[in-house]
Order: sequence, then C-alpha cells, then structure tokens
Amino acid sequence: MSAQSCDVLIIGGGISGLMSAWFLQQAGRQVTLIERHVCGREASWAGGGILSPMYPWRYPDAVNVLAQHSQPQFEPLSAELAELTGIDPEYFPTGMLMLDSEQWETAQAWCERWGYVLEVLDDRALSVFEPRLHTARKLALWMPEIASIRNPRMVKALAKAVQLKGVALMEHTPAEAIDPSAERVRVRTPQGWLEAEDVVVTAGAWSAQLVPELPIEPVRGQIVAIDAPVGFLHHMVMEQDRYLIPRKDGLILVGSTVEQAGFDKRTDEAAREALLSFAYARYPELAMFEVAHHWAGLRPGNPDSIPYIGAHPAHARLWLNTGHFRNGVVTSIASAQLLRALIQVETPPFDPSPYALERSHALSVSAP
Ligand SMILES: Cc1cc2nc3c(=O)[nH]c(=O)nc-3n(C[C@H](O)[C@H](O)[C@H](O)COP(=O)(O)OP(=O)(O)OC[C@H]3O[C@@H](n4cnc5c(N)ncnc54)[C@H](O)[C@@H]3O)c2cc1C
Repeated sequence: MSAQSCDVLIIGGGISGLMSAWFLQQAGRQVTLIERHVCGREASWAGGGILSPMYPWRYPDAVNVLAQHSQPQFEPLSAELAELTGIDPEYFPTGMLMLDSEQWETAQAWCERWGYVLEVLDDRALSVFEPRLHTARKLALWMPEIASIRNPRMVKALAKAVQLKGVALMEHTPAEAIDPSAERVRVRTPQGWLEAEDVVVTAGAWSAQLVPELPIEPVRGQIVAIDAPVGFLHHMVMEQDRYLIPRKDGLILVGSTVEQAGFDKRTDEAAREALLSFAYARYPELAMFEVAHHWAGLRPGNPDSIPYIGAHPAHARLWLNTGHFRNGVVTSIASAQLLRALIQVETPPFDPSPYALERSHALSVSAP
C-alpha cells in the first residue's frame, strides 16, 4: 500500500500544532499539518488567553518554566504575525489582579523566587485602581507584568502565517490511526496513508484517541462574553478561580467552568448564571450590557497539569506536544521550541525531563 510521503507531519491544528509548525518550519523542515476540521477552532479558540497560569504558585515548576520562557516572546511574535498576516493577535498588557489575598505570603515568596513583580494592594488603593469594582476584601494581589492575547486571532494569524511560510496545511483531514512500527511513521486518513520522518501529535483533548497511553482527558470550560464599552475594565481580575478578561474592543470574557463532561461541548444555563452572577457581583454595572456570546471548549486535561513534550518512549520518531490542560496558550511558545530542539537534536532551552511521557504511571510500554 503506497503512502504519501512527508518530512514532518503534525496532527492537530490548535495552538500546539500551529506553533510546532511555525518553529519546525523555521528549523528548515518541510512541515505538513493535518487538522480534522478547521484549524484553531477547539480549545485554542475557546480559551481566555491569559498569559500566565492562574495563581501560578499553585502549579508545578515545570509548567511555570514553560510559561516564563514563553511570556516575553508573545509581544514580538504577535507583532511579527500581525505584520505578516494582517491579523493582530492583540497582545494586551493589562496586568492581573487577584482578589484572593489569603495566600499572599506564598505568592510573595514564589514571585521573589521566579522574579515577578507582585504588589499587595489595600482597599483604598484597590478603589482607586479599579473604581467600578465592588468587593469587601481588604487586600488584593497585583501582578503588573501579566498580559493576555486574543487567542482566536492568535491561532488564525498563526494558521495564515505558517501557510505563507510554506507549511502544507490540510484541513478536513482527520488522522484515524497511527502506525509507528515501520521505519517511517504512518498515519491513516480517509484520503489514504501518509508517512513521515517525524510525526507529532498535537491533537489536544483528543490525543489519547491516537496514542492511548496518554492519560489525557477532556475537561470542559465555559465562558460568557459581555459586550461592554471600551475601557470599562482595565485589568484582568480573578477571584476563586473565576476571572474577567478585558479585550481591546471592550468585550469582557467571564470564565470559566471546570467540568468533567466527556467530549460534550454544549453550554448550559447553570454555568451561564454562575459566571454572570460572579461578574455582576463584582461589577454591577455590567448587567446593563448585552451578553454577546457563551461558549464551551475542551481542555486537554492530564493528572499533573504538565504537558507531554518529547518522543514517545517506544517510538523515537513519534513525538508529542500535548496535554497542556489550562495553560496551553501561555506555554505554547516554549513547548514548541522544546519540541523543535528535541526533534532537531539541538541543545534544549531547559531540562526536558519533566515533560517526558515516561513519568506517567498510566504508561506501560516496552521498547520494540
Ligand atoms: C474555557 C477555557 C479557558 C482557557 N483559558 C486559558 C488561558 O487563559 N490561558 C491559557 O494559557 N490556556 C487557557 N486554556 C487552555 C488552552 O486553551 C489549551 O490548553 C490549549 O488551547 C490546547 O491547545 P491544543 O492545540 O493542544 O488543543 P486544541 O486547541 O484543542 O487543538 C487540537 C486540535 O487537534 C484537532 N484534532 C483532534 N483530533 C484530531 C485527529 N484525529 N486528526 C486531526 N486533527 C485532530 C482538533 O480538531 C483541534 O483543532 C483554556 C481553555 C478553555 C477551554
């Protein structure tokens, strides 16, 4: 059975796949990316675009290494993509205000260790800082360096950019199965077999359908968006896992739920009410504006929140860049750069071992 030949074949056109394509193409590889539907319409579209883990001190160092390595690169990359494609990913340095100050000592120690600025605001400072905010809290935490990105535009720009740079992008082409046993890894699609020197799985929440050893499961998240006027909200505001994110055109995202619902992407009224009641309690004036959108997406959840980046333990030319759970946007640049270094046998930008699939207890593989 003949197969169409590729150099690098990437499966999945979310931010993980598109960013991998961007950096591998820059390394001189001929990249083909297959996407079962349309690129950038799943989790990477549905997310909030906060360029930090929420309460980063709650995450393993391995996640924060990826985030910190990526963060300074978003502004120049956004500018480059806007210039190249005409689509502005809207890097927005609003800072991140956290109303939960209970953990401020932990937060302060963590920020000192990682080199982030953290300020503790008292209620007077808070009322000047966010005058429309209603809260009885006496203290809040402020991280001025944290930005957001308009992720749907980021993935749209990336999809256009990689094509302009020569990546072959095949939409409506699902990978049905991977056969890694031959010298060149083979991938079955409805249009026939593809084979490649290197195959990369970036299929997000669906990755375990292709590589069953991956302990990745979908975790649904719902967001509502309120059509507020420009400048209504100046900063990202968080409290007890809920958040408000301002976009440059005034739209305010209110997120998010964390639900085990399988591959069900439907939204529901209970989530909408819970998110809106959080938003209206903190900013009562928001009730005057229209709720413009309500959507859900499936995060690629995994047991320890650390993505899987690197070669499959039993198949050296089958690569993974998946399982980014709640942080797949902020960690996308460093994840793709690490993947590129491993594939191209370059010096990795940081220790790759925490991202190896071998760490997973669910895995039981023997080398072929
Ligand atoms: C509500 C919500 C809020 C979030 N907020 C943030 C945030 O503020 N900051 C942050 O950093 N992260 C956030 N995230 C997480 C982030 O969105 C994800 O971690 C990230 O988008 C995962 O990217 P991905 O490319 O791996 O997956 P996806 O974007 O889901 O892309 C996977 C792609 O693979 C394709 N695919 C699947 N199976 C196949 C197949 N067999 N063949 C071909 N293609 C296939 C899919 O169609 C899809 O396009 C949020 C997520 C949600 C849902």
